[in-house]
Amino acid sequence: MELKLCCNAAVHHQYSSEFRYPFIKKASSFSSGGHGDPAYDYIIVGGGTAGCPLAATLSQKFNVLLLERGGMPFGNANVSLLKNFHITLADTSSTSASQYFISTDGVLNSRARVLGGGTCINAGFYTRASTRFINKVGWDSELVNKSYPWIEKQIVYRPKVAPWQAVVRDSLLGVGVAPFNGFTYDHVYGTKFGGTIFDRFGRRHTAAELLAPADPQKLTVLVHATVQKVLFDTSGKRPKAAGVLFKDENGNQHQAFLSSSLKSEVILSCGAIGTPQMLLLSGVGPKAELEEMKISSVLDNKFVGQGMADNPMNAVFVPSKKPVKQSLIQTVGITKMGVYIEASSGFGESDDSIECHHGIISAEIGQLSTIPPEQRTPEAIQAYIRRKKDIPYEAFRGGFILEKIAYPISTGQLKLISTNAEDNPSVTFNYFKHPHDLQSCVDGIRMVIKMVQSEHFTNFTQFDKQTTDKILNMSASANVNLIPKHTNDTKSLEQFCKDTVLTIWHYHGGCHVGKVVDREHKVLGAHRLRIVDASVFDESPGTNPQATIMMMGRYMGLKILRDRLGKAAGV
Ligand SMILES: Cc1cc2nc3c(=O)[nH]c(=O)nc-3n(C[C@H](O)[C@H](O)[C@H](O)COP(=O)(O)OP(=O)(O)OC[C@H]3O[C@@H](n4cnc5c(N)ncnc54)[C@H](O)[C@@H]3O)c2cc1C
Repeated sequence: MELKLCCNAAVHHQYSSEFRYPFIKKASSFSSGGHGDPAYDYIIVGGGTAGCPLAATLSQKFNVLLLERGGMPFGNANVSLLKNFHITLADTSSTSASQYFISTDGVLNSRARVLGGGTCINAGFYTRASTRFINKVGWDSELVNKSYPWIEKQIVYRPKVAPWQAVVRDSLLGVGVAPFNGFTYDHVYGTKFGGTIFDRFGRRHTAAELLAPADPQKLTVLVHATVQKVLFDTSGKRPKAAGVLFKDENGNQHQAFLSSSLKSEVILSCGAIGTPQMLLLSGVGPKAELEEMKISSVLDNKFVGQGMADNPMNAVFVPSKKPVKQSLIQTVGITKMGVYIEASSGFGESDDSIECHHGIISAEIGQLSTIPPEQRTPEAIQAYIRRKKDIPYEAFRGGFILEKIAYPISTGQLKLISTNAEDNPSVTFNYFKHPHDLQSCVDGIRMVIKMVQSEHFTNFTQFDKQTTDKILNMSASANVNLIPKHTNDTKSLEQFCKDTVLTIWHYHGGCHVGKVVDREHKVLGAHRLRIVDASVFDESPGTNPQATIMMMGRYMGLKILRDRLGKAAGV
């Protein structure tokens, strides 16, 4: 079912950034098949959060081809403007920057499909990983500390704190999430304001802008280039990546190849859904599963697609009598109970956005989810959208307090259901399967309720202190996912957590270190194949991961340059 809703992207400027990014071209411009074809030192699949900084860095010394299935982010109003955050997620058309999927758990989710990846559709909050995380993954802290600022000086801003976010700070301090650490990128216990990739005009800056420092002579970026699979040379003992097969925007197929050097590499940066999917499509994964899909096995590895995790998020809606300015995440409470507390408020401020679908955190999703799937016809949805225009503006006043489980133990798996690279695979996260995750949610919701009941909030919203029942009921009745609801949702916090679980879109895993890749992210058992994206993590870094994923792109690029060239790398 494809839904093209109101407020579509302004696409007219799509190819107007040729001066700053002369190396970005449409996939159909690629010529393949001739003897004189260029061979690349690196072919990066996925121009996302990690792929863009990685490509720019490697191009300082090597010939790089970056292939991105989505289009340009520049000039796309849905991507570029904060006020349109919800609209991008709601656009389920095939040209949308966000590709909608529903995990088998019944939770609605999104993955990026645009140059810049998740940084083009996310809530923009920017905050670094803890030192514990950096030590755990074994990264060189000197290089890490050099890589974060490279991102920050190009696309990260200090937010102008919105009133809602200030109340969240005060109420977090009120419930003991202290001290207040002010504005900082660092991961420290207590309450803080973090950075943002939105500037003070509400314009988004994305990982695609990190391509600007690339060497234009050495980098080629193709948009609308959907990679179908990695091509291998299987004549040796171990399969060796040789290149990739991709389709352009007209559906024509092309092949791109690596140079003959043993050090040349195909690097997968397709994200935590795209990369395990790409390995499977390329014949790397559990042999029996591949056989079922009639894919010839290149390398048997039962761990590909395993260990998929998505930090559960539960949100409490807080209505307000007075209008609330739109804000995405600016404040975070880093608690000692394995829960992060964040908040968003208001809806898009453009005239038409109030009439639109507001994405995952919206009553509207709930309305749709009350319709049995087979009756969710385009006509039924359009009728709902028409009715929504009659809902008074006041109904949208308020905001959300969210709690995210920092380290979910529950994990699931990803499996192919089609051999078409454009289709979503089947993904299961098993939210709250482990009782520890459920307990963390209950503890977090208890804290959120105290915050909502505090004077900080009642003074701000001008509503009297509400009962726990009423607070929970408002969120439970919004039906934010496709999970059947229970009558005891407001009596049992466990049931509330299970029934109202959402995603905060920090899914990760599927290609864990030690199982699918080594510590340098090289695919075990293969030559010339590496992975640089969120699929290698068994824990989502920081309170929100984008800072560390962008940093990882830069870091891995610098590391490869240093490893290959030593001092001559000059980095
Ligand atoms: C709605 C939303 C809100 C979020 N909010 C925040 C936030 O506020 N702060 C924060 O820190 N994090 C946030 N996140 C999470 C963060 O954005 C992601 O974790 C991060 O962007 C993932 O980076 P990645 O490099 O692993 O994947 P991506 O950035 O998704 O990159 C993968 C790229 O690969 C491309 N690709 C996939 N398959 C193919 C193929 N076959 N051929 C060619 N290209 C392909 C995709 O189109 C995409 O561009 C949010 C995410 C979402 C979706």
